[in-house]
Amino acid sequence: MERILITGAAGFLGSHLCERFLSDGHEVLAMDNLITGDIRNIEHLMPNARFSFHHHDVSQHIHIAGDLDAVLHFASPASPIDYLKIPIQTLKVGSLGVHNCLGLARAKGARILVASTSEVYGDPQVHPQTESYWGHVNPVGPRGVYDEAKRFQEAMVMAYHTYHGLETRIARIFNTYGPRMRLNDGRVLPAFIGQALRGEDLTVFGDGSQTRSFCYVDDLVEGIVRLLRSDESQPVNLGNPNEISISEFAEEIIALTGTKQKVVYKDLPVDDPKQRQPDISKAKALLNWEPQVGRSEGLSSTYAYFKGLPKEEWYRSAHKDFKQYSK
Ligand code: UDP
Repeated sequence: MERILITGAAGFLGSHLCERFLSDGHEVLAMDNLITGDIRNIEHLMPNARFSFHHHDVSQHIHIAGDLDAVLHFASPASPIDYLKIPIQTLKVGSLGVHNCLGLARAKGARILVASTSEVYGDPQVHPQTESYWGHVNPVGPRGVYDEAKRFQEAMVMAYHTYHGLETRIARIFNTYGPRMRLNDGRVLPAFIGQALRGEDLTVFGDGSQTRSFCYVDDLVEGIVRLLRSDESQPVNLGNPNEISISEFAEEIIALTGTKQKVVYKDLPVDDPKQRQPDISKAKALLNWEPQVGRSEGLSSTYAYFKGLPKEEWYRSAHKDFKQYSK
């Protein structure tokens, strides 16, 4: 049994990771400041004696009593709406937060895996994106606070690896979806499904020709576990290469939900990447990993989750008040 700290544990990916490591027989210390995370995502794990929740902001010094075998740093806002609402927290968790996690891992002799992102490639000029591509990022645009924090995070992780010899892993995570995404976080999948559930039109930004490639959460979690267990310290792309345009995606959601509503077009957000598709050759070769869950299967279970939520959740206001955190 290993003792594993997961930051951002009450978030979408964090909560699935907690479940996975518990079911693999490990002890999980779940840390979250609950700015964008939701305690209800991990409430069902509380009775487990191998699970504990630590309400803490990882941008502040982290104290953990006892040994640790691994740290998984998944704390971060992860949607354009959040970056606008809490830009400074977004920068801090990817910089001060990762520094604290690295310091902790070093003090405990633990291995660390950090969640990086396809956003390190920005609005990419190379397609599909391989790990060797350096990216095309606007540091001062609305996504800059996230993109640059994650790029800094990767640099910091590599520095701890080369200077301190820390065992480090970097997962570059592409668009991932599944149960427990926040219905109101502005990301395209919960946005479309929420609109369908409320009987609203689906809002496609721009002309909908921009592409994304969506990975089901169970596949992503399997990739994370394999990467953690590997000995690769360079970044590894994890995502599903099955690419689709956003307007086609809207049609899929309309068919899935049976909504009678139509697509309406809105302005394209600034710096919205035109295309995104992971090249996962490296993960395939290194981890013997590739996604197993097709979009129709993954979308069905995700839709079932959202549909099963209490109806008031479908109507919950789009933003929490983040002001108190924007220091
Ligand atoms: N998008 C959209 N309608 C929405 C929300 C998002 O058309 O209601 C588009 C958005 O402009 C982007 C794509 O869907 O091109 C994916 O957006 P998301 O915020 O989910 O992720 P990211 O842009 O970070 O990949």
